Amino acid sequence: MTLSSLYLAPTDPQLQPALREIRQVLEELQIIGPPLAASFSAGDGFSRHVIYAGCAPHLVMQPPADGSPQFCHVVLHGPFARPRLVTGPNTVPPRCPTCRARLQDWRDQRQAWDHDRPARCAVCGHSCAPSALDWRGHAINGCVLVELRNVFPGEAAPSDLLMQRLREATGSAWRYAWAGYLRE
Ligand SMILES: [Zn+2]
Repeated sequence: MTLSSLYLAPTDPQLQPALREIRQVLEELQIIGPPLAASFSAGDGFSRHVIYAGCAPHLVMQPPADGSPQFCHVVLHGPFARPRLVTGPNTVPPRCPTCRARLQDWRDQRQAWDHDRPARCAVCGHSCAPSALDWRGHAINGCVLVELRNVFPGEAAPSDLLMQRLREATGSAWRYAWAGYLRE
C-alpha cells in the first residue's frame, strides 16, 4: 500500500509559526472539518484548494470502514525543535545546488542531518543545509508541516489562495512538496 501526501511548509525550515494561525487558515478555507483522533477530516474546501493537474481521481473523504488510512485527511505537525525532513519511497537523490551532481549517498548521510550536520556533495565538496538541496518537490523539511494526506506525487498542488493565506497569516513564504505519510 502506497501512502502519499502533499506537504506545505514555510520556505525557511527553521521558522516555527503558531499552529493556531495555520489551523485558522485551514478552517476559513474549509480545508479541514471536524477533528479526528490525531488529524482533521477533509472539509468541503479540500477539493477546491488541492488542485488536480488532470482528471481528479475519485476522492475518498471519509475514513474507510476497514480502517485503511487511504482517505483524504489533514495532519498538522510540529512545532519541532529542529526541522524534520520528510521523504518518500520514490524520493530520488537530490541535486547539489552548486554543481548539480546527484547526492547518491543521501540516505547514508541522512542520519547525520538529524544531528544538525550539513549535507555534503561528494563531487564538488559543497556543504549546505539539506533543505538547500534540489529535491524537485519530492521531499520537504520544516519545524511545522501541514500534511494533506492521500495525494500522490505530482498529482495535485495547493491553490494560490491557500499559499497566499498561509503567507499572510505567518508573515513568511511557503512552499510545497510530496512525500510519504509522516508518523509521529
Ligand atoms: Zn556539488
